[in-house]
Amino acid sequence: MSDLGAQLQLGGRQVLVVGGPARALGLLGRLLDRGARVTVVAPQVATSIQDLAERHALTWHARAYTATDLDGIALLVVCPGSDDEPELRDSLQRAAADANTADILIAELETRPGTLREPAAATAGGPGSVALVGGGPGDPGLITVAGLAAVHGADVLVVDRLAPLEVLRDLPPHVEVIDVAKIPRGRFTPQERINEVLIEHARAGKRVVRLKGGDSFVFGRGMEEVIACREADIPVEVVPGVTSAVAAPELAGIPVTHRGVVQGFAVVSGHAAPDDPRSTVDWAALAASGVTIVILMGVETLPRIAATLLAGGRAAQTPVACVMEAASARQRVVSTTVGALAREGTPDGIAPPAVTVIGDVAAFAVP
Ligand code: SAH
Repeated sequence: MSDLGAQLQLGGRQVLVVGGPARALGLLGRLLDRGARVTVVAPQVATSIQDLAERHALTWHARAYTATDLDGIALLVVCPGSDDEPELRDSLQRAAADANTADILIAELETRPGTLREPAAATAGGPGSVALVGGGPGDPGLITVAGLAAVHGADVLVVDRLAPLEVLRDLPPHVEVIDVAKIPRGRFTPQERINEVLIEHARAGKRVVRLKGGDSFVFGRGMEEVIACREADIPVEVVPGVTSAVAAPELAGIPVTHRGVVQGFAVVSGHAAPDDPRSTVDWAALAASGVTIVILMGVETLPRIAATLLAGGRAAQTPVACVMEAASARQRVVSTTVGALAREGTPDGIAPPAVTVIGDVAAFAVP
């Protein structure tokens, strides 16, 4: 399976994945990064797989497999772990043979020992640990060397939906992948439960890696997890990551600062709109600050943010660039202005996850 991408030209081709465990996230990340058109068939899937479906990165049919699912596919992947797996495997092999689809490659989600390292003997009750790893904006090339080493040394990986999923492929069989994704306004694992999961596994002597998107301390609730571990006397370390606040603009050609244009940038959560009583951001001060404004988690609130910035003195023609699904095959950029946003609302085609850049540097955006 590790050579899958090398063996097959997957761009644009149909891949059917039967089953949807968290363990399949690495493979799915790889297939999507290679431009494959992925369909997952499984009555239930890990939260991050559901999230990918909701972001239209793949198609999920929430049902059992049927023989017609094979029509037109180039690659079939069978995930291990379901009760009826042996039967399913037989029927799939027969169906593939009957359909005379010789070019269908049947692959199995690997369960063999990984090549990265031998399974570590986890010492029950011994000193486990937790490492918070910032995984970067999504491309597996944008996790740090230290972060990747921590992933490869983990016994348990506790992952978020925006983490670089492809780094989870080829894991040794003893490694457990736990998906604790939070879909905005959807399915989620509460933060308290995430803290417990980290502590429980570390107490059992495991090396736990908490893999997040971007950097753990930029709207990542990383410090809450550090504090929980410290209170439980669990050794905890933090491996910095490349934050999407800088990387997403950069991947769209936008520098957050530029000599002669702007001397600073502010990263702000758009989760609570300016008129929301929960907002503690001084938006008028930001409007007047003259620095680039980078907004995370703010697709819905953008028009209200723009109106507040206008009222605070930002020019209506100030460029705005929205970078969506940065560092993935699905990356897109939509450009507008503060005035148009305030007047006309969020343009069509803007959907989360997105990083929005407001300021003259946004004019550098490459569509
Ligand atoms: N800790 C993360 C941010 C977590 S908050 C970091 O440092 O990057 C989640 C928000 O990050 C999303 O709502 C979106 O605004 C932004 N984001 C994360 N990854 C992204 C990506 N690949 N493309 C666009 N926006 C992204």
